[in-house]
Amino acid sequence: MSELITKSASELADLLADGQIKSVELTRAHLEQIQAVNPKVNAFLHVDADGALAAAADSDARRARGEVGSALDGIPIAIKDNFCTTGMPTTCGSRMLEGWVPPYDATAVQRLKEAGLVILGKTNMDEFAMGSSTETSAFGPSRNPWDLERVPGGSGGGSSAAVAACLTPLALGSDTGGSIRQPGAVTGTVGVKPTYGGVSRYGVVAMASSLDQPGPVTRTVLDSALLHEIIGGHDPMDSTSIAQSLPALADAAQRCDVRGLKVGVVKEFGGEGYEPDVEARFAEAVQWLQDGGAEVVEVSCPHFEYALAAYYLIMPAELSSNLARFDAVRYGLRLGDDGRNGMEAVTAITRGQGFGKEAKRRLIIGTYALSSGYHDQFYGSAQKVRTLVAGDFDRAFAQCDVLVSPTTPTVAFKLGERTGDPMAMYKADLCTIPSNLAGNASASFPIGLSAAGLPVGLQVIAPPMADDRCYQVGGFIEAKVESDTGPLLAKAAPIVGSKAVW
Ligand code: GLN
Repeated sequence: MSELITKSASELADLLADGQIKSVELTRAHLEQIQAVNPKVNAFLHVDADGALAAAADSDARRARGEVGSALDGIPIAIKDNFCTTGMPTTCGSRMLEGWVPPYDATAVQRLKEAGLVILGKTNMDEFAMGSSTETSAFGPSRNPWDLERVPGGSGGGSSAAVAACLTPLALGSDTGGSIRQPGAVTGTVGVKPTYGGVSRYGVVAMASSLDQPGPVTRTVLDSALLHEIIGGHDPMDSTSIAQSLPALADAAQRCDVRGLKVGVVKEFGGEGYEPDVEARFAEAVQWLQDGGAEVVEVSCPHFEYALAAYYLIMPAELSSNLARFDAVRYGLRLGDDGRNGMEAVTAITRGQGFGKEAKRRLIIGTYALSSGYHDQFYGSAQKVRTLVAGDFDRAFAQCDVLVSPTTPTVAFKLGERTGDPMAMYKADLCTIPSNLAGNASASFPIGLSAAGLPVGLQVIAPPMADDRCYQVGGFIEAKVESDTGPLLAKAAPIVGSKAVW
């Protein structure tokens, strides 16, 4: 195992800039780690070794000419398998798209290429991003590097497991209800859901368009900020992209100072259903903020209680409309096309076999919620709740600069533990969903381990386009964790720790 794989992207960028290493060497080290460890964690669905080595060689050649594309030129990255990538399959974890190679790159992917990053491959996910464990992937679940019998969260568990197991220093995720932050929390990695509209959705296969938001998955706060600065900013190809420049994120990540910051602890995120270890770690993190000079107050967001219910109407409604395009004609799988079946039969047979159980459950709920006569009763009511949730945030942000909560009520659960119980699975996103409904910035940072040695995350929530405040708090917390426990948790997760699983 090369020690390069445990370094953060910003450390590696310094080594590249100093001429101490080459991108090809760095890329090779990660490809070797993928070969050795991916069979255990199933984080990657597709590895593009040749493409990555060619991109790395290009980066080295560019650097030799004195032309550098960005701060992260030559650094490897993995991409969740719902981002369109030319030359690489994009399956969304579904049989429905098995083997489909998109004809264009998502804007975020295109920006990575322009910035000179080296794309290692595509990561596993719950089918079309529906789930909190990666267990709905048609290609088998990913496993949590901290304990291989446990889930790495979802839907972006592949990206988070890959980062936690040092298969890559950086990854991209997408967060519709928590799919970057919840996997981040349970794998001890940093996961950021930018402000809705802050990172382009163009070329990210849509789950629920009014909630989806791409973002970074990394081991350090600065790495997320650097990556966010590359993929973020206005994109004319996405009509919901915000035409405003991003705040200075990397500067905020390095400030390490929370003096004078007003921090609101959301009263509703705690109590029944929350593990005592999670609450204890959270209380400790709040104390760190207070000791660091932040002013901590309790705030109430009474409508958050209804956020999960509203989400499970709005999300399936949008999903049922977005997934209608998978009709056996336009993309991927086509079954039953034997010359006798008509088009409707071919579509029905293909959908029947191509979609998994969770996808079908949600498509049926969504179609029902939008059906004539029920539209106002279900979808309309949920949209009203969404407005109330956004109002709670407005009131809270009138008093506070940021809000904090545990990212998840529990640490990583065991594989299979919640597969037969959709409600238990959905509750993994209890704390993350309100920010998707309201569209504000939110992130998860590692704050320590439970008694059983499993990671716990702190969620930091900021107003729209104040993403820098998440990074400011994250950078402060990371420095605190490092000074208390060493860089183990923040920088290298389990691979070099005393709890190494291989
Ligand atoms: N776990 C949530 C769900 O199943 C969130 C998914 C996501 O953010 N893509 O819908």
